[in-house]
Amino acid sequence: MKSREDRAQALEKMARIEELFGRDDPWKDRLRRVLTHSRKVRTSEYHVTNACNIRCRGCWFFEYGHDSETREVKDLDTLDAFLLKERDERKINSALVIGGEPTLFPDRLRLFVKRLTNVTISSNGLRKLPLQGFENVAIGLTLFGGGPLDDELRGIKPGGRTFTGLFETTLENYQDDPRAGFIYALNEDGIGYIEDTVRRIRDNGNRVNFNFYSKYHLSDPAALAHQQDLLDEALRVKALYPETVVSHPYYIRAMITGRSHWASFGYDQCPSISIDNPQHAERLENGNPTLPFFNTWGADLETVKFCCTSGHCQGCRDSQAISSWLLVNMDKFLDSREHLQTWVEVAESYWKQFIWGPYHWTKVGPETLSAPNEQVLAAYRARASHAVPELAAAGL
Ligand code: SF4
Ligand code: SF4
Repeated sequence: MKSREDRAQALEKMARIEELFGRDDPWKDRLRRVLTHSRKVRTSEYHVTNACNIRCRGCWFFEYGHDSETREVKDLDTLDAFLLKERDERKINSALVIGGEPTLFPDRLRLFVKRLTNVTISSNGLRKLPLQGFENVAIGLTLFGGGPLDDELRGIKPGGRTFTGLFETTLENYQDDPRAGFIYALNEDGIGYIEDTVRRIRDNGNRVNFNFYSKYHLSDPAALAHQQDLLDEALRVKALYPETVVSHPYYIRAMITGRSHWASFGYDQCPSISIDNPQHAERLENGNPTLPFFNTWGADLETVKFCCTSGHCQGCRDSQAISSWLLVNMDKFLDSREHLQTWVEVAESYWKQFIWGPYHWTKVGPETLSAPNEQVLAAYRARASHAVPELAAAGL
């Protein structure tokens, strides 16, 4: 129940919004709709496996030994019971499924789809997630550096053997697939590849969100000698390909610099901490907002991990954490009409990446929030069943 103080603050906030966005202002309607949607989504994150079919340089999961910290649950009944508990007791309706590599275990993913309303997986793209049964699953395809850097950093098998063509394979697997979008970790060594990489993503019929490549093997993983150059290029490419690059310029700036207009990003600000991990008792007292009910569960389905990513906060610029930071801090954007408009756009662009939500790019713009663009989806379904005949024959 809300305290008297909470109610007073809520009323004050509403009055401020009225002041900034007038009575019949369309921005007010956009704000109301995106807030309504955001409040309905209750997310947690799940390490569905500790296994992966590659070994990327700069992967926090293996760099910090998350794969050996927990023993993976393989039994489907145990996973099912766990997911029912998440849904019924913690009221979670949205899963961000990571690993390891989730596509190695489609039978586990089917349980997520069965039990939770919204499912998003993070994948390296080497294996294609079948269409049937996963039509409404959002897929974030990881990409490091762009151009030849991607193979250099990620074309490595678990045994150490190298290979090439990971990006090309991913493009082929997910051509015109509206479920999929790239999560492109920018790296100052790859500044010269950004435009071409984004163009190839556009030509493949996909969208892209920018992320930040942290050099986890260095003492300051986010240190940049050419931060301004990287930022300028990311913003230039966003301006050139505004539809393909889903990320908002405000978000891009915050991610690359680690700063917003009110603070620097760090543990004391980060909202993507696991609420049930006792290490956060002090953090929860500092008054900075957190993602409600958010936990990241280890692959043993018992361990509540520190947060949505590595747990090593120095220089962290995880894209989900930065996006969530901006989204949970709408109050900080109430200082001017321009800032509040920016917040609405940042929030809308964030939700654009998820096929399961009303803001996905296959649906008509946020102004109308109408039905999905069935033409885009139908064309993809037809092409997918022809393109992968063995999958179609197997009913996948
Ligand atoms: S694909 Fe993902 S989990 Fe696997 S090594 Fe690369 S970053 Fe790590
Ligand atoms: S590692 Fe990053 S996401 Fe995790 S708590 Fe620290 S700052 Fe937040």
